Parts: sequence; structure tokens; C-alpha cells
Amino acid sequence: MSLSEAEIDRYIKRLFPICRSITGNGNRESLKILQELVPLSIKEVPSGSRVYDWVIPDEWNISDAWIAINGNKIVDFKENNLHVVSYSKPVEGYLTWDELRPHLHIHTNLKDAIPYRTSYYENNWGFCVTSAQFQKMKESKGPFEVTIDSTLKPGSLTYGEYVLPGTSSEEVIISTYICHPSMANDNLSGMLMTAFLAGELSRQSNNKLGYRIVWVPETIGAIVYCALNEEDIKRIRYGLVVTCVAGTGKYGYKQSYDASHSINSVIEEIFEKENIDFQTYPFDIHGSDERQYSSQAFRINVASLTKDKYYEYPYYHTSLDDLKFISSRYLKKSLDLHLQVLNKLDKEPVYKNRFPHCEIMLSKYDLYPKVGGHQLPEYNNLSELDLRLWLLWLCDGNTGLYQIARKLDVPQERIELIAQHLCEKKVLDRIR
Ligand code: ZN
Repeated sequence: MSLSEAEIDRYIKRLFPICRSITGNGNRESLKILQELVPLSIKEVPSGSRVYDWVIPDEWNISDAWIAINGNKIVDFKENNLHVVSYSKPVEGYLTWDELRPHLHIHTNLKDAIPYRTSYYENNWGFCVTSAQFQKMKESKGPFEVTIDSTLKPGSLTYGEYVLPGTSSEEVIISTYICHPSMANDNLSGMLMTAFLAGELSRQSNNKLGYRIVWVPETIGAIVYCALNEEDIKRIRYGLVVTCVAGTGKYGYKQSYDASHSINSVIEEIFEKENIDFQTYPFDIHGSDERQYSSQAFRINVASLTKDKYYEYPYYHTSLDDLKFISSRYLKKSLDLHLQVLNKLDKEPVYKNRFPHCEIMLSKYDLYPKVGGHQLPEYNNLSELDLRLWLLWLCDGNTGLYQIARKLDVPQERIELIAQHLCEKKVLDRIR
């Protein structure tokens, strides 16, 4: 990989200050910058469009906002875009402390932090401030000059998509979210790393599976994407949600909903190969866009490989998740780990039993011992005959061989040899 940390740094610095949300010009601007790294297409879905149980909201844009006392700005959107609750409606006027107070948000534990707050589906407004700013306003008599120069009107929701075909019609989804304003680990690191990852994958000539890579606003954007691409999504075998990949804390991964799926064992295998100490987070209904891709209609196994996972670090969803908190070195390492995981999974053989209706007569294919009693267990109390039977039982054309090896607790190489033998005997077909 020829990517330099300096290049990563340059993109981090350009993208960090942009005010992003679930809609708006900040998202378009960010995606245009990512187009320098990968030829993603920028798609627009009009406000008011119905997508499953949701409706695309009006588009939000903001140019300025502040709170001032006697002409002196105490809180200024131009200093930090986290100061304004995302999707705040326009406001202009003079307020008393009692009127202003319900619209102020502070962080309960971190005094110096500006918390991150949103109000996408409530017609509201607000400011997020440090404890010092809050105290200063509380002690002042006001009145407070409050301005939010925003617009909330019909427009569209913007997302990015890059589809890279493989030699098979099956695909992998890689999804990241672009809706967070100036926070570095969550999720500037993820949206940028995904662009580098797309570039790397596109330079590989031997991908078996295709890649469907999307940069969407979290939740609503993933729902839009599923609704508009329902048939394509059903051809996806597994996926990754890329988020929080460059923080200072621990590596970890959130398991996909089926803990036995190969994606989980391969992530662990790569961590172990790299001697990385990691934390495992079992699947949970909270989290990111795996909630949509793994929903009942799709049930795609989607995991996330993280470096300082969301929810887990103290600076999560605050202004302290800034450029000092992440490192391009960690981002580069996460990129390498993601590539290793995807390339290993791409090579996973998938077999299908040619005879799914009841058991075959093994002796007809010379697969049954002519003399009983000498089948010694090889691994995990399983003899070669047992392994043949398990393979015929499990090879349904969908379950990969790594998953089968993990389930049986037998080395991948051994299972693969037996599967190849069953193919020679024409009872299994290798379908991928
Ligand atoms: Zn977040």
C-alpha cells in the first residue's frame, strides 16, 4: 500500500471542519472531496420521499449562529460547529435566561467538552456549550442576543455510492456514515478510511465478490439505500459498517448477528495474526447501520472492526473527539486490517451438496469404510467419516468453509482437503 500518513492527514484536516448532518451542503462538499480518492457517484433523494416507514426530511443548511451579550459573542458556531444542535430551526431575537436555558446543553462529565446533540425530527433549536460558557451566561443578566442562521426547506438527502463488480454476482456491502459534524473518530475516520479502502479494492484485479460501498447519513440514509436497492441488497453475502477506526484506545469488533458467521472468525484470525489485543462486542440491537442491513428482510451478517468503538470512549460524541484524539497511523493500520479481512473472506470456498434430499449411500461413492471399527478420531473426536458427514450436512451453498471449520473446531486446511475429496467423488460442488 503506497498510501502515506501525510496524505491521510491532509484529508483529515480538509474534511474535519465541514458541518455535516443527515442532509445538506456539508455532505455534498465532503463527498466531492472523497471523489478525489474514488470515483463514487453522488446521489440525491428528494425531501418528502417515503422509504419504508420513514419520510426524507427537509434539507438543513446553516451558515452562522451565535449567542451574544452586549454585542460580545459567548458562543460562536464559527469556532465549533458542535455548538449548534443539528437541524436547529432559524432563530433571531433577544431572550432572557429563563427563555434561553431550556435550549442549552452541557456535558455532564466533561466540563471542557461541547456535547453533540441532534434534533432531526423535532422542530426545535438549541446550543451545546462548555460548562464555563454555561456558567458565564447564567451569571450574566442578559438579555441574550440569539441567532441561528439556518434554513430548513425541501431539498434532498445526499449519499455516495461506489459499486465494484467481482467475478461472481454476489456482493459485499461496506457502509459508513457521513452525518456527523466535526468529530474525528466518530466518524470522520470511518468515512475517510472507507474511501481509501474503496480505492485499494478497485486496484485489486482478482476480487471474486463485488463490493457495494456506500457513504450514507446514519439510519435514514441506510434505510433509503435499502429501500432503493432492495433486490441488489438481497444478493449481498456479508458486510462491514466502517466507524471509529483511528482513536487512541483499544481495537475491537462488534460481531454480526450470527456469531458463528465467518466474518467474525476471520476478524479474530486477523487480529491474532497481527498480535493485536482486542475486545469483542457481541451483537446488540443498538449500534450503527448493521441494524438496517441485518433487519428481517435482509439478515445480512454485518460486523464492525473498530479502534476505540463508539459508546466506549469518554470523548465519544463531544468536541474532545478532535484531531488530537485520532492518528493517521491508526487509520492506516485499520485500513490494512479491513483489507486483510475482506481479502481472506473473498477467498473463502463455498460448497453445495449435490444431493440435498436425504442422505446419500456413501459406499456407492467409495466414501464409507469397507471394514468398520478403524475410523480413529482426528480432531475434536471426529473421524474422517464424521467430517464427511458433517460437510454433507452443512454445505448448503450458503455456509462458507471457514464457518464450518469453526463450528467443528477443525483446521480450515483439513476441512478443505476433505471437501475437495467429496468434490472429486461428485457429491459436493464448489460454487465459489
Ligand atoms: Zn455517532
